[in-house]
Amino acid sequence: MTAVDLGIPLVRRTTDTSARPDTPQLVDRFGRVATDLRVSLIDKCNLRCTYCMPAEGLPWLKRAELLDTDEMNRLIRIAVEELGVNTVRFTGGEPLLRQDLVDIIAATSALPGHPKTSLTTNGINLGGYAEPLVRAGLNRVNVSLDTLDRDVFKRLARRDRLDDVLAGLAAAKTMRLEPVKVNAVLMRGINDHEPCDLLRFCIERGYQLRFIEQMPLDAQHDWDREQMITAEEILDRLSAEFDLAPDVAERGSAPAERWLVDGGPATVGVIASVTRPFCSACDRTRLTADGQLRSCLFSTTETDLRGPMRAGADDTELIRLWQETMWAKAAGHGMDSGEFAQPARPMSAIGG
Ligand code: SAM
Ligand code: SF4
Repeated sequence: MTAVDLGIPLVRRTTDTSARPDTPQLVDRFGRVATDLRVSLIDKCNLRCTYCMPAEGLPWLKRAELLDTDEMNRLIRIAVEELGVNTVRFTGGEPLLRQDLVDIIAATSALPGHPKTSLTTNGINLGGYAEPLVRAGLNRVNVSLDTLDRDVFKRLARRDRLDDVLAGLAAAKTMRLEPVKVNAVLMRGINDHEPCDLLRFCIERGYQLRFIEQMPLDAQHDWDREQMITAEEILDRLSAEFDLAPDVAERGSAPAERWLVDGGPATVGVIASVTRPFCSACDRTRLTADGQLRSCLFSTTETDLRGPMRAGADDTELIRLWQETMWAKAAGHGMDSGEFAQPARPMSAIGG
């Protein structure tokens, strides 16, 4: 296996932190440039997916801890106007629970260069929101759908909301938030018998399905590598019913490896963050709902932007903090190293 297979950038690491080149872009020591901003708008959620959070939920951030609309818009503006970000994805928690979501998307879409915008959602409120979101300039959605079986949904997400998710997906298609992508996480003994059904369902409706390997980012720290359904296993199961051929289209920084299904044009993707990490091509920078910058999903350190912002920091200072945070980005998530530690902040509060 090569370093690239392991997700380790080939660019040699320099320990000279003063060597950051004089560029406004969000560069790191390995030559990567972050152009994709992932914003978590809220940590709360109306589902309780077992791979994400416990049944009782979590101690949610208080209102005063969340960035308000102006603070959120200011940081997104800085990222786009000053730091070279050209894609902004909104997530959470459940971003459709954030009251000012449409305003934030409208403000983002109106920025110079019109960054591409997308939303990662559980789809529950998408039926009612799809139209105003499109009017605000939203380009795309990713909807999470792990099962087509109502009982399995109730067990996996601990809420009886499958019909709302399906309605949300249909609304996204009607409103042309395309390509409509569907994210699915498979859990052993719960929904791991469904990959072929999910793929057939998505192909029939023109959705692009991507399976995500379960990651050690659950709030309850229950993740067990032995139990995880690997990319290899997913592909084996799909191959029993479909003819899969690697999609030769340039992957770029896309996290999903794609396969043409039965000769195409339909495709299926697998995001193998655990078994086939893609850190060497990562172009992400992350902002949490409480104004913390993260250079990686798996970062164990964060940079506070909310404190300086509320203390009166000007844009120049916030730009410097952002550039320094990204310059210090680690080569990879290091899950295979003995030193790996799951971040204290769970996926729902980082923004997946
Ligand atoms: N609530 C929204 C949703 O579910 O789409 C947005 C936030 S959720 C954290 C974003 C994505 O992360 C979802 O597709 C979800 O399935 C995925 N996710 C959550 N916990 C995960 C985990 N431990 N491993 C892999 N994916 C996970
Ligand atoms: Fe909520 Fe998304 Fe986590 Fe499920 S994966 S509990 S929908 S934040």
